[in-house]
Amino acid sequence: MTRDWDIPDQISVPIEADEDGFTGRECPVDKCQGYFKIEYGTGLQGEDLPCHCPYCGYTGAHDEFWTKEQIAYAESIAMRQIERAIIRGLKEHEFNYPAQGDFGIGISMKVKPGPPHPIRHYRENRLETEVVCDMCTLHYAIYGVFAHCPDCGAHNSLQILKKNLDLAVKQLDLAGDVEDKDFAEHLVADALENVVSTFDGFGRELCRVHAEQATVQTKAENLSFQNLPGACANFKRLFSHDLTTSIEQAQWDLAVRCFNKRHLLAHKMGVIDQKYIVATNEASAVVGRRVRIDVDEVLEFVVIVRRLGEELASVLASEDGGR
Ligand SMILES: [Zn+2]
Ligand SMILES: [Zn+2]
Repeated sequence: MTRDWDIPDQISVPIEADEDGFTGRECPVDKCQGYFKIEYGTGLQGEDLPCHCPYCGYTGAHDEFWTKEQIAYAESIAMRQIERAIIRGLKEHEFNYPAQGDFGIGISMKVKPGPPHPIRHYRENRLETEVVCDMCTLHYAIYGVFAHCPDCGAHNSLQILKKNLDLAVKQLDLAGDVEDKDFAEHLVADALENVVSTFDGFGRELCRVHAEQATVQTKAENLSFQNLPGACANFKRLFSHDLTTSIEQAQWDLAVRCFNKRHLLAHKMGVIDQKYIVATNEASAVVGRRVRIDVDEVLEFVVIVRRLGEELASVLASEDGGR
């Protein structure tokens, strides 16, 4: 028979989602302990699905990913329930035997509970990037930008590249609408620089994640994509695949030209130097003049970078079974 003051052998403590619908998670791997959040109900559906750490890729049961704060909160709720059960139990045994006669001693026991066990409330942290996985539709939030999807494990690098390329196209659209010529030029130049830097970030991250497939792992972990011919040559050496085969020769020439234009913008205030002429063979370029950047050229550049990005991602994904 169970009495209401018996201590239960199991206490279930619900962990509520935060105001945005996200529940905090923490990687159980000591070296990582990465914090992230997921929105339950989005993403893969099914029983006992594993969880992937977005940062280190560790895979385990969802039960392994409680945060320290959630565990402390659940323990404090459980302690409060146990404490109440103990007090109720003791109260059942309260008694009072008054003194008998002049010399008798009265005995009584009255339970006077002290302050209740404190509840360790917590708040989920604010994170930097919210992602909707384009493979499984899970909503999740992370520090930084790049991550594995906690549900399906897919890496989001290509998704982030495409999102940033879409932003560059919006910037180019905006440049067409503004009256101020200098501002329009600034927007076009900025879009070009963003395309290069987002491709660099994407390429670096993807090669780092898949570095174990490379002939020299440490080189793959630190591969730069700021110089397109150099990056493609290094990629070919490390991963035995020529990325340039995925685009036409004219597209390759345009991409190389745009990467070099970005170099001038970032390091030479956009003024053409001899190196630029050697690297691009651009007939109309004159040393000492400002480099011209055309909206249509950058739009075409976005298309090419998207193609190169897809090629890079599919080559690396196909070699490790698509994780
Ligand atoms: Zn981790
Ligand atoms: Zn996913």
